[in-house]
Amino acid sequence: MNLNLSNKVFLVSGGAKGIGGAISKGLVEEGAIPVMIDPSEKEAAEIIDLAQGNALQIPIRLFSPEQAKEAVDLAIKTYGRIDGLVNNAGSNDGVGLENGSPEAYANSVSKNLFHYYYLAHYALPQLKQHQGAIVNISSKTAVTGQGNTSGYISAKGAQLALTREWAVELLPYQIRVNAILPAEVYTPMYASWIQSFPNPEEKLAEISGRIPLGKRMTTSQEIAAMAIFLLSDKASHITGQHLYVDGGYTHLDRSL
Ligand code: NAP
Repeated sequence: MNLNLSNKVFLVSGGAKGIGGAISKGLVEEGAIPVMIDPSEKEAAEIIDLAQGNALQIPIRLFSPEQAKEAVDLAIKTYGRIDGLVNNAGSNDGVGLENGSPEAYANSVSKNLFHYYYLAHYALPQLKQHQGAIVNISSKTAVTGQGNTSGYISAKGAQLALTREWAVELLPYQIRVNAILPAEVYTPMYASWIQSFPNPEEKLAEISGRIPLGKRMTTSQEIAAMAIFLLSDKASHITGQHLYVDGGYTHLDRSL
């Protein structure tokens, strides 16, 4: 299948490592140009090498609207266009109801959510011009809960609501907006979370054993495949969808 992505330009927040890194690499393999908004220098350099220089890192930790505008402006200045946006940057920072505070909660929501809006807002004129697409990376925790992570979960739930909201608002421009809900993907973030358990290997085996399809974790590449398909015109009649790429973890029978 030819995804027709050659020389198209995509913003990927958190695009150097983990799921975002796999999306950037997948885009390079399709001949597209990822603009990685991510502070991770070593990993971004590897992707730029893979792309033979046809990729860009914007080495910032997104937080403010000004940073998002600067990132969009730099992508346009460098490549002259933006064809799509993958909102992906985030971290499960464990700010709970009992163990958190109002200040920590507000900070967690803003650092996990607000830049999804900022990037979409500033990239919109380009997306309108090129009939672009938006993919929001949310999480199964938005629909299952996890415990002790109110801020992150608020952001993940809002990302699903915004996916529907933007899909409706952007219908007149033929801009499609979809969300992916990963469940258990072994990324650097996941690796550090699993290390917080007294016996990480046992915990990992226990979680993997509960994943219906193959009793294994989803790979970052499997999330990337869905994201890249959704960005492409092969997904031309898919919008406003919440797609679970999780080996059946969220929905299938618990007795499996
Ligand atoms: P990861 O391994 O931590 O990779 C994320 C990358 O994004 C890192 O390079 C990180 O840099 C960067 N980053 C974080 N916050 C940023 C910001 N504000 N601005 C720019 N870059 C930022 O995480 P991941 O597991 O791939 O997660 C990616 C997305 O998938 C997140 O939205 C997460 O909620 C979602 N997700 C993941 C899983 C899973 O099982 N892994 C499950 C459900 C949902 P640093 O390393 O320097 O922080």
